[in-house]
Amino acid sequence: MRPFIFKAADRFKLGGRVSNQGSAVVIELEGSKKCIGQFLTELLHNPPPGGRICSIRVRPRCYIGYDKFSILDSSESSDLQGFIPPDAAICSECLKELQDRKNPRYSYAFTNCTCCGPRYSIIKALPYDRVNTTMSSFIMCDSCRSEYENPNSRRFHAQTNCCPECGPQLSLVDSRGIKLESANPIDTVRGLLCQGKLVAIKGIGGYHLVCNALDDKAVKLLRQRKRRPDRPLAVMAAGINAVKLICTTTLREEEVLEGRQHPIVLLEKRPCSPLPYSIAPGLSRLGVMLPYTPMHHLLFDDNLKYLVMTSGNISGMPICYKNEDALERLKDAADYFLIHNREILVPLDDSVVRVVDGKEMVSRCARGYAPAVLGMKADAPVIAMGAEQKASFCMLQKGYAHTSQYLGNLEDMDTCTEYLQTMERMKVLLQTNPKIIVHDMHPGYFSTQYASRQSCTRLAIQHHHAHMAACMAEHGLAGEIIGVIYDGTGAGTDGAVWGGEFFIGSRSRYIRAGHWKYVTLQGGDSVIKEPWKCAAAYLYAMGIDSRGILNSVDASKIKLVEDTIKHNINCFKSSSMGRFFDCVSAIVTKRTRATYDSQAAIELESVADTSVLEYYNYYIHEKEDKLEIGYEKILSGILKDLKTGKPASYISVKYHNTVCEATIDCVCRLRAQYGLNDIALSGGVFENTYLLTAILKGLKSKGFNVYWNMQAPINDGGISLGQAAAAAEMVKEVAYVPGCTGKDCFNT
Ligand code: ZN
Ligand code: FE
Repeated sequence: MRPFIFKAADRFKLGGRVSNQGSAVVIELEGSKKCIGQFLTELLHNPPPGGRICSIRVRPRCYIGYDKFSILDSSESSDLQGFIPPDAAICSECLKELQDRKNPRYSYAFTNCTCCGPRYSIIKALPYDRVNTTMSSFIMCDSCRSEYENPNSRRFHAQTNCCPECGPQLSLVDSRGIKLESANPIDTVRGLLCQGKLVAIKGIGGYHLVCNALDDKAVKLLRQRKRRPDRPLAVMAAGINAVKLICTTTLREEEVLEGRQHPIVLLEKRPCSPLPYSIAPGLSRLGVMLPYTPMHHLLFDDNLKYLVMTSGNISGMPICYKNEDALERLKDAADYFLIHNREILVPLDDSVVRVVDGKEMVSRCARGYAPAVLGMKADAPVIAMGAEQKASFCMLQKGYAHTSQYLGNLEDMDTCTEYLQTMERMKVLLQTNPKIIVHDMHPGYFSTQYASRQSCTRLAIQHHHAHMAACMAEHGLAGEIIGVIYDGTGAGTDGAVWGGEFFIGSRSRYIRAGHWKYVTLQGGDSVIKEPWKCAAAYLYAMGIDSRGILNSVDASKIKLVEDTIKHNINCFKSSSMGRFFDCVSAIVTKRTRATYDSQAAIELESVADTSVLEYYNYYIHEKEDKLEIGYEKILSGILKDLKTGKPASYISVKYHNTVCEATIDCVCRLRAQYGLNDIALSGGVFENTYLLTAILKGLKSKGFNVYWNMQAPINDGGISLGQAAAAAEMVKEVAYVPGCTGKDCFNT
């Protein structure tokens, strides 16, 4: 902000000064009323790229008589709001310099300016000044220093300013950590990639494992070494034209691809794409991104247009971001390492987004988006711990919710360590000391157990209520609404696993007004990895012999599941929509085992022939004041279609359409009963674009106001924000008693 403000003040001939305080900016201005007015208009309507003005407070001051406008060093004052700037992709001006043979930064991999480059990933403390970043170990050369001090330079007050003379350098090492002498490591790496080698490359938030995406053998080798058999791999394409050869894009999607964050965007694959099937087997969509660091741009040439760029980790573990660590943990995965000496402080995966109904929807909030800041009228000193899968945490401070990046699954110990370290770092950056710790109701979650060991006030929020509250917080919804939460797994208050829920409620409370009918599942978390177990359980509940239907599964295994359900051994009740999708996928697409999260459901969506409008019969009962949607008629319809040889593409879409019809029907009944017209859609199942779009369209046509998560992930990545929002509202409604432990303090 400061250089931008300096230039604006100069333009309107104002005297005064500007300083960073926390991450707020304090400006003193002297000049005519008219010019100050013009300055403020400029500030509000044309903030600098990546700048976000949440509020401006204007106060009169005594006249000092400044003879010029100047930038002051950052103050240590801590009583102002701190915002942590996210990392930004290389800007077009820097890209021009990178490609200009006559420019001193020609092909320099760390070129950046005031509006682009690493931020959150390298910041040790606020305010954002060079001394507080990992760039502090590089001393600016005379020419960089003069740019830094020149108000007319693009790099005026660019904290990370550097050039080939004074900045970070790349080096190439082999898998034993031995440095290879190379005049130009990037040229060498390009050659290695063309030969089918796998290279670990250090980027903004950590290492990527990289190979030539057109080389099927290399892609398969990468899968084998990463122990990732099917999960789709992200592709980096040389430019937007290269993207258009492999995927179809809308204008909005192109904007997002080329935006400030350069996330992975999920796009519809082209049938004639030159990429091998092995990149995203069985899927209609592909995650694609554009080069976002100068180094990435240098990797491409006419012979290398597409790279697989997947997180540098072994499946299930956190992304590697420290050099020694990467060399140790990835030595069996990568043939070579392209490393550099700019230290990364916080690990950040690539963000993943999609465009739904013309709007960007974040699925994985990480590089460029994190920490995500949302204004929330709440001052409770809350930290929310998020869920077990797709972990994140959220801190409330001075009217804002700061949500961390995606931190992986907390079933892995290294991930837990990373999660806690990132949390401690964020507390330091925001200078906050939370007094209320909010967690999920699931007793087995790492975060729940961590919370139970803290001396803060504790508060448990039901998982699906947190999903709904996240959506409400993001859209600023207060009061009561109808929440439709379709999810994989979440602990209910009755001991069952919920996930096909209809809530009536606000941010602070809810009633369960309806749900999908319970089915008894067997085998704990193993059902998630083995969708056939879901199918066997649903069919058993209907009294149908699944042996002829799940024909790829051992009959003795099916028998074992049936017997254990009969004797109620290791069983649980489930209303989970995620498990219903698993069940249908096992029956229709024969996906009996999943090697990654939601594989069965994603594949089921992928085969759907979206031109079909038919749907199966279903029923909705009223049971103990709740609406209950049954699954029996739907499954019978599917089995009948299977028997008559209908293709999976037809059955899949018909099933999707049925879920939509039943959902809309149920919501209409709730509107009649409760008189509510605002709907929140949330939960991981809504990552299914077809389902989300169809329900959205159906509800809108019936006059509902429909909201869904866009900034905070609709999956469990958004849980921490929802927990924080729910807790903040509860604290507002009851007097918060410091020092009191347990949720009894909040009983109203
Ligand atoms: Zn730049
Ligand atoms: Fe969830």
